[in-house]
Amino acid sequence: MIPELLAPAGNMEKAVAAVTYGADALYLAGKSFGMRASAGNFDEQELRKILEFAHQRGVRVYVTVNTFPHNDLIRELPGYLEFLQELGVDALIVADPGVLRLGRQWAPRVPLHLSTQANTVNIEAARFWCDQGVARLVLARELDRVEIEEIATAVSAETEIFVHGAMCMAYSGRCLLSRFLTGRDANQGACAQSCRWRYSVVEEQRPGEYIPISQEPEGTYLFNSKDLRLMEYLPDVIATGVDSLKIEGRMKSVYYVAVVVRAYRAALDAWAAGPDTYQLQPQWLQELDRVSHRPYYPGFFVGEQDGIHDSSASYQSARNFVGVVESYDSERGEVVVNVRNHIDPGVSLEIVQPRASVVTLRADKMSGPADPNKQVRMPSPPVKALSMVRTTAGDSR
Ligand code: SF4
Repeated sequence: MIPELLAPAGNMEKAVAAVTYGADALYLAGKSFGMRASAGNFDEQELRKILEFAHQRGVRVYVTVNTFPHNDLIRELPGYLEFLQELGVDALIVADPGVLRLGRQWAPRVPLHLSTQANTVNIEAARFWCDQGVARLVLARELDRVEIEEIATAVSAETEIFVHGAMCMAYSGRCLLSRFLTGRDANQGACAQSCRWRYSVVEEQRPGEYIPISQEPEGTYLFNSKDLRLMEYLPDVIATGVDSLKIEGRMKSVYYVAVVVRAYRAALDAWAAGPDTYQLQPQWLQELDRVSHRPYYPGFFVGEQDGIHDSSASYQSARNFVGVVESYDSERGEVVVNVRNHIDPGVSLEIVQPRASVVTLRADKMSGPADPNKQVRMPSPPVKALSMVRTTAGDSR
């Protein structure tokens, strides 16, 4: 069985990109009750639109209702759950037992997926949640492959794991750091990622004297974790029997969503074409290096926990995202690009196409200044709409 490829969709553009680049399913939030409060998220009209768009292409849509609402908010939930059921969403992703209970009551026709926030780390917990009517368990990120396989085998519910993206230093997001430092509560979907900030140690009697505890010139990053990447372990991941492979990142750019989905889609398709002849392709790893990321790490999956800490705060990327292809004018042989970041005339570009190869060209004879939010034309071989345009120079931020 080939697991489902499940992609993040922080807004409409990212959702459309995820579908176009090969996701089997999307997870996204409405305007309330979903983690990632500062992603764009979807209002009622957008939810209807993306459901229609995805369903027409055989792609499922899961809606996150995975915050931990207090009494005042949870009273508003029944109406929202009824609304989501009426819309025809394919699943609700829940974490709080109260939300789960209300989901069964007010949206009984919608399957419930238990969020990774519920920290399911053992077979008995998995069985408990199955007894509560959960159709799928998003397992905790802190499990290794043997534990994942044991749970996937032991329960009748489907299982899902994260294969790519940022990780928390706290147990699957159960953390108050952001709330303490900024008032933004990670458990209400508003994490400020305070764990990525630079921290120092100060001894009580010596205020203002910062004690160095790492050799890194930029400072000390006590809590920072590396990013997860399980591309190299895909055959082992599939062998665990999990049903769904999840990419983290509803806050990431449309370029990130497109490139990461494209790479994992290619790998899963290669596996589907013949597990015996499957081989990890260097270009899949290369592409994952060409999105903004922290150093990669296979995380708990391989049973190593020591290397998770990243001693810097910087992101790295071997490419700069500069625009999205609006259309291709075949009469004039020109590509029309919606510019996101300035493109210097003459610079070398790569056009990353959905389910097709990367095209290279030079940004010559552009129709005007290529500044953010402008549209620009330039001569190009034929390329598909919604291709991602990037320069070949690396960056870090
Ligand atoms: S501050 Fe860091 S560890 Fe805490 S919830 Fe946010 S991302 Fe996770």
